[in-house]
Amino acid sequence: MTDSYGRQITYLRLSVTELCDLRCRYCMPEEGVCKHGHDEMLTEDEMIAAVRAAGRLGVRKVRVTGGEPLTKPNILSICRRVAAVPGIAEVDITTNALRLPDLAKPLREAGVKRVNISLDTLNAERYAFITRRGKLADAWAGIEAALSAGFDKVKLNCVLIGGFNDDEIPALAELTRRYPLDMRFIELMPMPGDTLFGESAYIPASRVLEALPEAAPCENHDGVARLYRLPGAQGEIGLISPLSNHFCGECNRLRLTADGHVKPCLHSAEELCVKGLDEDGMREVFLRAIAAKPQQHGALSAHDPSQSARTMNRIGG
Ligand code: SAM
Ligand code: SF4
Repeated sequence: MTDSYGRQITYLRLSVTELCDLRCRYCMPEEGVCKHGHDEMLTEDEMIAAVRAAGRLGVRKVRVTGGEPLTKPNILSICRRVAAVPGIAEVDITTNALRLPDLAKPLREAGVKRVNISLDTLNAERYAFITRRGKLADAWAGIEAALSAGFDKVKLNCVLIGGFNDDEIPALAELTRRYPLDMRFIELMPMPGDTLFGESAYIPASRVLEALPEAAPCENHDGVARLYRLPGAQGEIGLISPLSNHFCGECNRLRLTADGHVKPCLHSAEELCVKGLDEDGMREVFLRAIAAKPQQHGALSAHDPSQSARTMNRIGG
């Protein structure tokens, strides 16, 4: 399907849970989320019906996300069934990696092609601080499990936070030389109610290039990321800049939250509900959501938080 601004909508981000075993400061409140009743959340069958409906409208890629998708007991069944939906050519997952030592190989066997892993720092104390409870060694064990499970691609996502991890850009980028993985640096997005970070935390992705003078631009580009490569590196470095240089013109995606709301745009409050509908009803809602996609999101800065009515763990990133 093409939206009102000529963008082909081919990508669905499917959030399978709001819950998480970490509490990253930019994503989720310390106390966690108020647990909803099962009847308020999409069932596995509803998720599959939604993916089938989206597939009929031209969606080809599904990224399973959360909250932490690997906390979902039926995650392997969800991935296997999504991968079998007609028209879906690629199923990927975004995770904090903590459960990958047990799940990396089964996810690969379930049809997951690519894994994105959140890693903001290589310093154990900083990791414990930013995640409020995680151990860097556990995340690293998950990354190693992903690297040996045979995925088509392993990417690490680092949220850039001025005064927290900007001094680690060279060390994080160096991972693309040591391992067959890609590194993504993402500008910190100001979400509603964020009070934890001051203005200086919101640094532009261009800071990455200043820290990596030898990085050369790549010919190709990957969706919303501008790509670079260090000499001799096995993987690419991608910059995602929703604040300093928004990529709305390239936006090919819809988001479905774990409680069944389609979001036409990450940073708008507009949501359309599919909970309780059959596949045909869901298809109608997706059509309305595609028609409702705005040309671009409003200003985002330390002073202009996202208009989304949800914290990131309740959207899926
Ligand atoms: N739990 C999984 C994980 O951490 O990868 C998947 C869900 S998480 C919400 C998806 C992505 O959103 C992660 O890469 C995370 O770093 C990113 N994210 C969350 N809050 C953010 C924010 N305020 N600004 C930028 N990225 C954010
Ligand atoms: Fe959990 Fe991912 Fe949010 Fe961190 S970024 S709190 S791991 S959902």
